[in-house]
Amino acid sequence: MSAPRLEIRLDLIEANTRTIVDQLAPLGIAVSGVTKAALGSPEVARALLRGGVAGLADSRVENIERMRASGINCEILLIRSPMLSQVSRVVQAADASCNSELSVMTALSEEAVRQHKRHGVLLMVELGDLREGILAEDIHCMIERIQALAGITLIGIGTNLACQNGVIPDQSKMAEFSSLAREAELQSSSTFRMVSGGNSANLPWALGEGAIIGRVDHLRLGESLLLGTDPTTGSVLPGLRNNAFALFGEVIESKLKPSRPWGALGRTTFDTANNARACRSRLDARKSVLVALGHQDTDPGGIGPPAGFAILGASSDHLVVEALDWLPQVGPEIRFGLSYSALLRSMTSPFVSKEYLPRGVATPVVKCG
Ligand SMILES: *Cc1c(COP(=O)(O)O)cnc(C)c1O
Repeated sequence: MSAPRLEIRLDLIEANTRTIVDQLAPLGIAVSGVTKAALGSPEVARALLRGGVAGLADSRVENIERMRASGINCEILLIRSPMLSQVSRVVQAADASCNSELSVMTALSEEAVRQHKRHGVLLMVELGDLREGILAEDIHCMIERIQALAGITLIGIGTNLACQNGVIPDQSKMAEFSSLAREAELQSSSTFRMVSGGNSANLPWALGEGAIIGRVDHLRLGESLLLGTDPTTGSVLPGLRNNAFALFGEVIESKLKPSRPWGALGRTTFDTANNARACRSRLDARKSVLVALGHQDTDPGGIGPPAGFAILGASSDHLVVEALDWLPQVGPEIRFGLSYSALLRSMTSPFVSKEYLPRGVATPVVKCG
């Protein structure tokens, strides 16, 4: 086995998915499993499907093409507005896409006609987080224009909170979204197939006591299914596991070193909050471990060391770790937990090998030899 390495427990992803899908089904909410943090990994996509998602969703057409090439033929939604330069690939690979620009939907329409296909449009509505979406006052006019486009089916409306400004999808936001959906259905005398209320940040609302689900019948879930966490708090959601992914790095140097740097000090390339210069105040020696992991492999600010180790800082290729109890030798691997951003970066890095574990046979926290 090689390091750095991402171990992926497909059984835990499937179990998380099953837990959430089963809790949302009685509320009338279907789930699209979001694969973007897994780089559209077909193995991860299949674990989500085994767990019961109704379809898949990804923000990149490249990832959707990767899943299609592996034979996945379920409904796939592109959850970022298509780039005009990729419209042809989007119509080819995705069944539907999130949209907020008429020029893009017009291009999708022309391309769908050309490809003798129908492309679904989920019209995104801005509810205050200030990322994607049209303003509520423009819904009616926009829907009339979409309905006039050949080759396009308006599948419904969607919204996305908690991603740009951390606006929480609480009961009042979701009630507002439901009434927008109902009004839009009335005005356009149609029934939407999908009223997509949001992402993993919506789970505390949807599964909370006394939630009024209203017209919402769909969520797009990534982080909660993959990492088990609520993005707005980082805490593990009830009944979910947060150890489906683990990153292993190999120890390449292990020494007792002074805990304070010496010489004139300037800035460093990766001089972020993560590089814990606070340790400068300490004079005693410390057990310093160098792990072959860096910004090219992961987001060092988003990885968690095992008990007995503390991360002191990272650069492109080196992670400096303090061993608090015992000093490992050169050669063993150390296991790290991952945040969403660390997972995304590790999945994307060509230096990190991906090891899929179908069943519970995870490698120990510090593995020798
Ligand atoms: C990333 C994304 C999601 C999934 O978000 P999670 O927090 O991972 O559940 C849903 N919808 C859109 C539009 C996204 O960009």
